[in-house]
Amino acid sequence: MLRIALDGPSGAGKSTVAKALAKKLGVIYVDTGALYRTVGLYVRNKGVDKNDEERVISLLPEIDLGMEFINGEQVITLNGVNVGDTIRTGEIAMYASRVSAIPEVRNFLLETQRKISRENDVVMDGRDIGTVIIPDAEVKIYMTASSKARAERRYKELIAKGESCTLESVLADIELRDKNDSTRKTAPAVQAKDAILLDNSELDIDGTVEKAIEIIKSKVEI
Ligand code: C5P
Repeated sequence: MLRIALDGPSGAGKSTVAKALAKKLGVIYVDTGALYRTVGLYVRNKGVDKNDEERVISLLPEIDLGMEFINGEQVITLNGVNVGDTIRTGEIAMYASRVSAIPEVRNFLLETQRKISRENDVVMDGRDIGTVIIPDAEVKIYMTASSKARAERRYKELIAKGESCTLESVLADIELRDKNDSTRKTAPAVQAKDAILLDNSELDIDGTVEKAIEIIKSKVEI
C-alpha cells in the first residue's frame, strides 16, 4: 500500500501539491477539508450558529455525505446533491474551521476517511491524517509556510475567483483558523512525530512537489 498523509495549516498549498503527487504516482487524491466544509455548508444553510455546538451536533443525523471519485476527481454529495464549488468560499471555510473542532463532527467523518484509505493507495490532505486517520501511513509530510506567505497566496486565489477581500482580512482569517485548528482538544492540527517537515515559504509549486517526491523516495520505492 502507498498511503501519503499530507498535513499542514491552511494555505500551505497542500491541495495543489497533493493533486500533482497523486497524478505522478497514479494514486487517488483525497481532500478531507472538503468533508468539513460540506458539514459547514449544511450548518450555514440551516441557519444554525456555527458556535452552537449542541445544535450543530443535532444536525448530523440529517446529513448523508457521499464521497466518490469520477475520473480521479473527488465528488462530494450532500444528501444526494453534488456540492461542487459552493464549499470553496471564505465564509464556508470559517464554518468548517468551527465545526471541525467538535469531536462528534470529527467522529462523524472518521470512517469515511479511513475506509477510502483502506481500499486505495492515496495522497490524503488534511490536518490529522498522520496523527489520527492513518497513523501507520507509509509517508507522512507536514507541509507549511509562514502565515504571511500563505495569506498572500490565498488572497491571490480569492481575487482570481472574484471574491472581494483584503490581504489583511485573509491574513486574519488564516491566523484565526490556525489557532482554532491547533488548539482544539480533539485531533489538533499538529505535526506527527514521524512526519517530515516541508516548509515551502520560499518555494514555488514545482519546487515543493520536487521536495515532496524526495521525501517520498526516502521512505518508499516509487
Ligand atoms: O483544508 P481546508 O481549508 O479545506 O479545510 C477547511 C477546514 O476544515 C480547516 O480550517 C480545518 O479546520 C478543517 N479540517 C480539519 N481536519 C482535516 C481537514 C480540514 O479539521 N483533516
